[in-house]
Amino acid sequence: MNRQEGDIKDDVHLNLNVRGMKPSATVAINEYCNRLREQGRQVFKLGLGQSPFPVPDSVVDELKANAHQKDYLEVRGLAALREAVAAHLRRSQGVTGHADDVLIGPGSKELMFLLQIVFYGDLLIPTPAWVSYAPQAAIVGRHVTWLNTERSEGWLLTPERLNRVCREDPSRPRVLVLNYPSNPTGQTWDEEALRALAAVTAKYGIIVLSDEIYGGLHYEGRHASIARYYPERTIISGGLSKWCGAGGWRLGTFMFPKRLRWLRDAMTSVASESFTSTCAPIQYAAVRAFHGGMDIERYLRASRRVLRHLAGDIAARLKKAAISAPFPAGAFYFFLDFSNHREALARRGIRTSEALCHRLLEDTGVAILPGSDFGRPATELNARLAFVDFDGARALTEAEIIPADMPLPDDFGRIIAPNVLNAVERMCAWVERPEGGGARA
Ligand code: PMP
Repeated sequence: MNRQEGDIKDDVHLNLNVRGMKPSATVAINEYCNRLREQGRQVFKLGLGQSPFPVPDSVVDELKANAHQKDYLEVRGLAALREAVAAHLRRSQGVTGHADDVLIGPGSKELMFLLQIVFYGDLLIPTPAWVSYAPQAAIVGRHVTWLNTERSEGWLLTPERLNRVCREDPSRPRVLVLNYPSNPTGQTWDEEALRALAAVTAKYGIIVLSDEIYGGLHYEGRHASIARYYPERTIISGGLSKWCGAGGWRLGTFMFPKRLRWLRDAMTSVASESFTSTCAPIQYAAVRAFHGGMDIERYLRASRRVLRHLAGDIAARLKKAAISAPFPAGAFYFFLDFSNHREALARRGIRTSEALCHRLLEDTGVAILPGSDFGRPATELNARLAFVDFDGARALTEAEIIPADMPLPDDFGRIIAPNVLNAVERMCAWVERPEGGGARA
């Protein structure tokens, strides 16, 4: 039989590593919510983890003043920005690195992708983990080893577990991803735990990709990097997306230790053949952000205060509904565990985290992401809630009126983040209702 033109499927030519791959879960939920809203449905967007806060005024002003910057910049980034990033890490973490050790990219996600392209070895990922590390490894064809963590240990990787995996093949080249405060759990290691993890990474010479993108949103302002205890092979990943509210500006930073200059150089070469250099006006504006100053400090203190307060309100409601979740140390996520409701949910036909999130969205309009998107077993019944559906500019203004040594008023959350608290209320009521599906929103 002759083949007709229409029978020929061009997508057979797709790279097998990307065949069947879906868009990132966080991006997909956001687009789905937008479609539901267009259909007139009320949707509470607690899926995508985007900062609710505006970019600080001084940084926006700097961007305006540099809109005319039109030239391609150096591949590795504007010298003044690399210096500002190095100085920021010197001040905040005591890292001794130099501007030459910094690489700037269009988002830290892109830099992580470049790292995976140039590094040949296993990627170790503790679960639950941010949604993009593993798909990046799959695209590039790297092997992923998942490291389990326990709810009872705050979903934090322990040195014992890391050691157990590494001693099976001690000399295997590896990159360990550590993300803290964590997306999706908001948890972080204390300094003693970081020291203990560092002892294991040093023993096996593992490279650590230390994803500290939420470091600036540690609620107590006390984020500590593992680079303090394992400077020789830690890459610190950061950027403007979270603490500076500028996710859409696309600016990420990597700080390499001297020992990993070979990686820095290889990544710079690949960058020169791919994105060339990061957006020039954004880089000029980022210098202002990383220099810091009184206004940036005030902005950060207010952001942390608002987030911590809201987290308190949410935790209180979750507790009443017997939904377990460790209290976050930073960022804007709760990693919810619905296992106390396992039987009741099963009676409603819900046995996986994906089914749970799907039904919750259908029944109540509340969008959260299933734990399976973060590498947890499908039947574990957990999900990530991002409490970002509120007017961050207004929240900062209201918080700044109240003196720093006074607590925010009890009704602060209700006033500045009604959508978030309504959504949490709906979710809890949906779970507590014995058999019902709840009214469609
Ligand atoms: N790491 C984590 C844990 C994140 O949550 C994100 C963004 N959601 C990124 C990295 C990527 O950030 P960006 O590319 O905007 O720097």
